[in-house]
Amino acid sequence: MYFHKEKHTHHCNRINLTIADIIGKYNSEIRGMYNYYRIATDISSKMGKYKYYHYSSMAATIARKEVSSITKVIKKYGIDVPRKHGTGTRKIIGVNYETKTGSKTMTYFNEPLIYLNQPKKWLKETNEIYYKKPLVIKRLENCRCELCGIQSSIPGDFAVHHIKKLKSLKDKYFKANIITPYWVQRMIELNRRTLIVCKKCHKDIHFGKEI
Ligand SMILES: [Zn+2]
Ligand SMILES: [Zn+2]
Repeated sequence: MYFHKEKHTHHCNRINLTIADIIGKYNSEIRGMYNYYRIATDISSKMGKYKYYHYSSMAATIARKEVSSITKVIKKYGIDVPRKHGTGTRKIIGVNYETKTGSKTMTYFNEPLIYLNQPKKWLKETNEIYYKKPLVIKRLENCRCELCGIQSSIPGDFAVHHIKKLKSLKDKYFKANIITPYWVQRMIELNRRTLIVCKKCHKDIHFGKEI
């Protein structure tokens, strides 16, 4: 994704979208990444870097669309937002748009990056996993469900299903002599404690419970 390419990669297939749609698309991606990374204690350093490249990619896409430069794009679409530290404002690319209830402003993702201290129970060990095995991030960025194969361009559409021990999972189904669900077979096949899944498959894994 954005990590390994040049600094100002743009998205060819996004050039034809409106500015608001481009920002919306990037926002849903960064939000997805944020939801994914926020259980990491060093969320702000991890995300900060990603966010920088991601924002640059968005600026480059808009610049490309308008046959302009990133500097000009920031000048044209920069909206003053209060600085998170200290006083004063800084510019973030955004748009004003009209709704029935009046005019609204949408800027690029500008929420403070806060560590989520109480991860859901099946995500217990994921902090550790993210850093020991960056492969899981690469797999997540493939934007492809490892169960049903569905693809999407939004990383936020996918989640990491995680189990503590593959062996106890094997034992649970094999020893009990009950039918092994497909997701268990897949984890055994891949020999991993993590599985990248789409929302639907993830819900199915958790017996239809909302996640
Ligand atoms: Zn799926
Ligand atoms: Zn899960």
